[in-house]
Amino acid sequence: MSNLWIEVDLDAVKHNYYQVLSLLTPETKLMAVVKADAYGLGAVEVARVLQEEGCTSFAVTAVDEALILRSQGITGEVLVLGPTSEEDWKAALGENIQLTVAQVEWLHAIDDIAAAMGKKAVVHLKLETGMGRTGFTEDKLAALSCVLRETEYIEVAGAYTHLARGAQRDTSYTRGQHEKFMRLLKKFEESGVTIPAKHICNSAAFLDFPEYHYDYVRVGTLLGGHYPSSIFDRKLDLKDPWKVKARITHLQKVPKGTYVGYQSLYKSKTDTMLAVVPAGYAHGFGIEPKLVPQGILDLVKIIIKNTAALFGFQLGREKILYKGNPVSIAGKVGMQLTVLDLGTVDCKYGEEIVLPIRRTLANPRITRIYKKNNEFYKKRIIREGFFEINTEYSNTEV
Ligand SMILES: *Cc1c(COP(=O)(O)O)cnc(C)c1O
Repeated sequence: MSNLWIEVDLDAVKHNYYQVLSLLTPETKLMAVVKADAYGLGAVEVARVLQEEGCTSFAVTAVDEALILRSQGITGEVLVLGPTSEEDWKAALGENIQLTVAQVEWLHAIDDIAAAMGKKAVVHLKLETGMGRTGFTEDKLAALSCVLRETEYIEVAGAYTHLARGAQRDTSYTRGQHEKFMRLLKKFEESGVTIPAKHICNSAAFLDFPEYHYDYVRVGTLLGGHYPSSIFDRKLDLKDPWKVKARITHLQKVPKGTYVGYQSLYKSKTDTMLAVVPAGYAHGFGIEPKLVPQGILDLVKIIIKNTAALFGFQLGREKILYKGNPVSIAGKVGMQLTVLDLGTVDCKYGEEIVLPIRRTLANPRITRIYKKNNEFYKKRIIREGFFEINTEYSNTEV
């Protein structure tokens, strides 16, 4: 039996899917972004449940991710958003996976592969409008439309751009990106290339700019039950499908003044109860993204937070709730074990505690228990020693 597992409620994902659809008009299609293993929830599981509800369009970052979806029965459109390389193209075309093209040079090579396979390569063109990452800039468009006239086996299904500041109160940068996108598209179409579909919205813009929905919205974060940032009116009723649970695997009553953990960074302030849970850095616990200040006030907050951490106070860290009581991590999080100071909260060996482990950081080898249509099944990666050898599914009662 596992003392650390993750519960993923696919019924909640389904609920979120219908919430997103409720803000869409029939002209716009939802492209469900399930990259990075559906932000940790499980790409195959999430894509399957969405497909069952009628979703026919998916996006990931890399060809590998798209191939996994195909091999697991996802039949709709699958668009690879990120850059790809020559060694991936044949496999992608073989499985009717759509590629994003962001470099003119790729087109001839993709065209040759498609010609040899006797099928069309369906691509979306990425335009650069202010993310500064990938995409065609204005000066490349002439060459691009020239190459597109020569490449018979390339079918342009759409063009898109990605917004950099979707989750901000000040919308001027986003409006500027949109304007640029429209200008590039217009210029491009004037050169004789038809663009059947255009798309620009991620979750943030989907919420804030219904007028930018166009042919597709590329939504990931909202399907997982999160808002892209805290600035949004809670327009949707989202459910969080994610819960990491650990059992208390050791309990000890200690007197005031007991040191806990590496470097003895924690010293109990009273007589207390210490509980050990089998989770640590190796599972993605205690790892937080580096804070980047969003202004002077924010900078001050971060300095205070880091200074406090130096003296053993964890400010602003997501609280661990045990039976409704906030409890703190005692000392440093270890590799696979962490100590919690439960104070005077009534507790028992073997009881469950919900831990704040981020979904994108949680080790994929932690057993997942999925809930779907009110039934539960378990997905576990089978290992022999250090090597993954298979994935096991089994029904489970919770
Ligand atoms: C990740 C991603 C999205 C989805 O963004 P969310 O904010 O998670 O909805 C859309 N488009 C591109 C290009 C992405 O990389």
